Amino acid sequence: MVTANLRDAQVEVNLAAIRHNVAAQRQAMPAGNRIFGVVKANAYGHGAVAVAQDLSSAGIDGFCVAALDEGLELRQAGLTELILVLGITPVQYAGTAAENDISLTVGDVDWLKAYQQLAHAVSIPKPLKIHLGFDTGMGRIGFTEPALLKEALELLKDPVFEFEGCFTHFATADEANDAYFKQQIARWHELLAVLPTLPPYVHMANSATGLWHPDQITGNTVRMGISMYGLNPSGTVLPATLDLQPALAVTARLTFVKQLKAGRSVSYGATYTAKQDEWIGTIPVGYADGYTRQLSGYQVLINGQRCDLVGRVCMDQMMVRLPQELPVGTKVTLLGRDGNDEITATELAEKTGIINYEILTSLSPRLKRIYK
Ligand code: PLP
Repeated sequence: MVTANLRDAQVEVNLAAIRHNVAAQRQAMPAGNRIFGVVKANAYGHGAVAVAQDLSSAGIDGFCVAALDEGLELRQAGLTELILVLGITPVQYAGTAAENDISLTVGDVDWLKAYQQLAHAVSIPKPLKIHLGFDTGMGRIGFTEPALLKEALELLKDPVFEFEGCFTHFATADEANDAYFKQQIARWHELLAVLPTLPPYVHMANSATGLWHPDQITGNTVRMGISMYGLNPSGTVLPATLDLQPALAVTARLTFVKQLKAGRSVSYGATYTAKQDEWIGTIPVGYADGYTRQLSGYQVLINGQRCDLVGRVCMDQMMVRLPQELPVGTKVTLLGRDGNDEITATELAEKTGIINYEILTSLSPRLKRIYK
């Protein structure tokens, strides 16, 4: 998909806010602990390369991505920090990871055996860096059985591998009830106890663990995702314990302004009909940009004031009822602060029954990213 550079609609990213959030997490952890910036899914919509480059200059310890391609994008941009692929990479692509010094997550013995065979057959020049995933209750990927973990440790002695890390991921660290979290902690310790020596990176904390369970963190590294971008992983369930600054805004400028006569309608389905003559502006953003159609009828900010969207959000445009005639080119804030008011990703998520992560990651590449 092309990026629309020649359109007045953009994602604005405040890199200083991201740095502030990382510094806040760093201050809350024991000295010497490390932070991996989670920059998968285009850095949660903020732009992976720009965010990673900025974090790199701010001294981040490494990056997490979801797919090998995302790691390669960072390497090709010149980033030299540790890059860990959190998902499972098909064995046939693992040589590419080794060649590019990208670390892979492994959750089963068969994968290690298959790579071992491949690496001996084609002689890959560098060892493949491995982080073993422990499934302590997420039920997604990773070792659950100590016996299989022991077998994996034996296989990792082969010099085609470098045992670089181990980690787990929590399913409920952002919930008020910590019973399940505690079960996962217990399993994490059981599995860690199988390791005669710990690898250099031991990591179990996501944003929520960093925020609400700092005393439970074992290991030496936090994987910071949503909180790095300034959002609360729980939505509004638990108050954030760090001063988090949201880093992203979506703004646009009105492309068209008209008076809609009473009785005339707006957008597909003609679901909105003006009761009186009113001023309507057109915003050059639609659901193909990630502004979901479920937000039809919701609000945007213009001159610090909430204004109602009218009619259905279209693929590329949507209409807003203006308080009075305003010029074409007037700034509209779809997400972010304008004056004393702010529309947050959490608010939009609650309005549409999703989570703030989804609001951010839905912002399509068609929206240009601007950094300040
Ligand atoms: N670690 C793993 C394994 C993940 O899958 C994710 C996100 O999905 C994260 C860390 C970051 O999570 P959060 O954004 O909640 O900090």
